[in-house]
This record gives sequence, structure tokens and C-alpha cells, in this order.
Amino acid sequence: MQINFITENEEDTIKLGRSLTKLLKPGDLILLYGDLGCGKTTFVKGVAEGLLVDPEVYVTSPTFSLINVYEGKYTIYHVDLYRLEHIELEELGLHEFLNEGIVIIEWADRLNESLKEDFLEIYFKYLDLTKRKITFIGYGEWQELLRELDKDELST
Ligand code: ADP
Ligand code: MG
Repeated sequence: MQINFITENEEDTIKLGRSLTKLLKPGDLILLYGDLGCGKTTFVKGVAEGLLVDPEVYVTSPTFSLINVYEGKYTIYHVDLYRLEHIELEELGLHEFLNEGIVIIEWADRLNESLKEDFLEIYFKYLDLTKRKITFIGYGEWQELLRELDKDELST
């Protein structure tokens, strides 16, 4: 199951992140792909909003910390692997919280192992200054779950 969305601006991408949250539950794994500035972190902002993370909490790329944790309806583990060296992946302890909350990983192409059988991949593509193509691909249980999103008005 694959769905494409076009977002016309930043707010659309936040809205898309928010609309995904109705499908989320602890233990979910979301892998984000796409170049710098394509909207990955912006999308995570929407997910945090949808899971009622305190709006005062600043959702930003955990580029240096590698992991940011936000407490909302569920705990969100926001991971950014941009600067990851292979040695650090072990130390990151991803497996320890993979079943506890929602794990969202930016630059997931840096992963060299499969973390779970059920997961959602999201690809971000820069179309122009304000337009992005966002593609969802579901694996395992996410193949079916994604059908719920198809009805969203941003769907192309
Ligand atoms: P990434 O995490 O992929 O590096 P960010 O979300 O940090 O990207 O940055 C995306 C940038 O692009 C922001 O400055 C945002 O305002 C801008 N932008 C413009 N149009 C969009 C859009 N449709 N969706 C998301 N971000 C957009
Ligand atoms: Mg980012």
C-alpha cells in the first residue's frame, strides 16, 4: 500500500502529520527519508501536535542529541541519524524504547538493520519552494492501516 500526498505549504505538512496520529499507538515505528529541508522535522511537529505534546515544547531536529523525547498522549522518540557514525547506532539503544512509544526516525537510510516487521516509511521530495511530495509506504500491519489515510483531503 502506497499513498502520495502533495503539500502546498508548511501548514499542510503539519496537518498531514496531525492526521496520521489517529492511526498511531505505542510500539509504532515511522521511518523518514528525504534531503535536508524537505519537511521531515515539520511533519514530526504535526505528529507531536496530534498527540497533544505541550505546544511550549520545541520540536526540532535532534541532529546533535540524536534523540529528542516528547511526552504527549504517548511518548514520542524523535531520532535524527544525520550525523550518526555506525558505532553510535548500538549505543543509541533504539531497541530499548521500540516497544514503549512512537519512534520516528529522520535519515532512516543511515540504518543498517531492520528494526521491526511492521513499520511506516515516509519519503519527502522537494518540488518547489513551498511544495513537497510526501509518499507513505506501509509494511506489515501498516499496509492495511494506511487505507484510513487515503480519505484525507490532501491525498492526490
Ligand atoms: P528536514 O527535517 O527534512 O530537514 P525541515 O522540516 O526542518 O526539513 O524544514 C523544512 C523547511 O521547508 C522549513 O523551513 C519549512 O518552512 C519549509 N517548507 C516550505 N514548504 C514546505 C512544505 N510544503 N512542507 C514542509 N516544509 C515546507
Ligand atoms: Mg530534520
